[in-house]
Amino acid sequence: MTERNYSTVNPCIMCQPIGSVIAFKGIEDSMVLLHGSQGCSTYMRLHLAHHFQEPVDIGSSSLSEKGAVYGGSENLKKGLKNLILRYNPKVIGVSTTCLAETIGDDIGSIIADFREEEDLADEIMIIPVPTPSYEDSHNSGYIKAVEAIVKQFTIHESGNEIFNNKLNVVLSENISPEDTRELKKILSDTLGSNSFILLPDISETFDAPMTGKLQKIFPGGTTHSDIADMKNSAATIGLGITNNNKAVSYLDKTFEIPSHNLPLPIGLEYTDRLLTELSGIAGTDIHEDYQKERGRLIDAMVDAHKYVYGTKVAIYGDPNNVLGILSLALENGMHPLLVVASSKSPRFAEYAMERVRQVKPDCDVTVLEDVDFDAFNDAVKKAKPEMLIGNSNGKYISKDIGIPLVRIGFPIHDRVGAQRMLAIGYRGAMEMLDRITNTILEAQEEKLAAKWSEPESYVPLGEDSFHSAEA
Ligand code: SF4
Repeated sequence: MTERNYSTVNPCIMCQPIGSVIAFKGIEDSMVLLHGSQGCSTYMRLHLAHHFQEPVDIGSSSLSEKGAVYGGSENLKKGLKNLILRYNPKVIGVSTTCLAETIGDDIGSIIADFREEEDLADEIMIIPVPTPSYEDSHNSGYIKAVEAIVKQFTIHESGNEIFNNKLNVVLSENISPEDTRELKKILSDTLGSNSFILLPDISETFDAPMTGKLQKIFPGGTTHSDIADMKNSAATIGLGITNNNKAVSYLDKTFEIPSHNLPLPIGLEYTDRLLTELSGIAGTDIHEDYQKERGRLIDAMVDAHKYVYGTKVAIYGDPNNVLGILSLALENGMHPLLVVASSKSPRFAEYAMERVRQVKPDCDVTVLEDVDFDAFNDAVKKAKPEMLIGNSNGKYISKDIGIPLVRIGFPIHDRVGAQRMLAIGYRGAMEMLDRITNTILEAQEEKLAAKWSEPESYVPLGEDSFHSAEA
């Protein structure tokens, strides 16, 4: 991957607990407490607040040197008590950080002791999730937390076993609040508003309306009764295919709920797959609104084709997101030279190459996974793309080599609106395509600006355009 791969330099991934925090924020009335030093929770609060532009409260057990030497159980118990008294949550996710994992604190038994010692925890579900960052990334933290949530709720609520004929939809990667709203709309329009259970649901909790009233825990998220009811559903769809969606496997194995995984519905083909699946489940034709949206997307693709065709791109970020953008890029005639999943993702390369073979078999593409920005920088310089597509952390590479960056994914810290960014569904594909096309047009204008300094001068289009169409 890189000639200097003896250490990680500027990781493309974030801490494992941050994924766990995002997952817990997608369920009703929940708070997260990080068992570790204060710096971990401060960093994660800031990181999430910058991306979502919302206040993000996260508790900390504030481990100090003493806790690191003698164990952090007292700190964790005090932290839990404080959190309950101040926030009154119904669910608390306790995620470990590197320090807590290194000293070997057994959070399961500390939580059990806390329950024995404190009556105030009787009605509260406390869910431990081990998330040492040196082991993996925010993506695995998200998957682990979603699995832990489903396990706790389905075991805890045993006895309620009435078939509900619903579809479980379980995400295996973080999507934006706007994407979540779009997904809920698609599910509601195709199946009916009470016919599915989506987990996690950050549509409101990370993009809450301003009401003038301070809310300690934002309303919204998947309801507790819905999560408990997932074991009574007719089927499960996991969204995301590059990693093992552990909650989906658990529901399948434990409750024999038939399941399969689909790619995140980004771009034409992957959205078609979801809509076809949903219309099959509903036993109806694809909803008329989505047939119209699909037609508009095809129209937009025809309009944009003359600008985007042949553009050499490098795509990077969270694996399922990257796979979707790769699919969209190929469908629009772009030339992906470099496709990079920032975290470990066992099936990413296989699915990325499968999509390349389906659409553009002669495309000379390099697929990498689990790389840092140092390695990515080397790979970009070698591949020489004309555009980067990924999160805002790639801006230094984009500035250094003087190519544009289309911001998408997580995190986006240097622009506003990440929480309202839409990538999924036909509408998301149109928005993405418009952004990519307009970025190409802007870059082309900048390149030609010198020649346009004389207003009367005429520069024929294509003479010195952004990219070479035969690439
Ligand atoms: S100590 Fe671990 S969990 Fe905490 S901020 Fe650093 S990498 Fe993340």
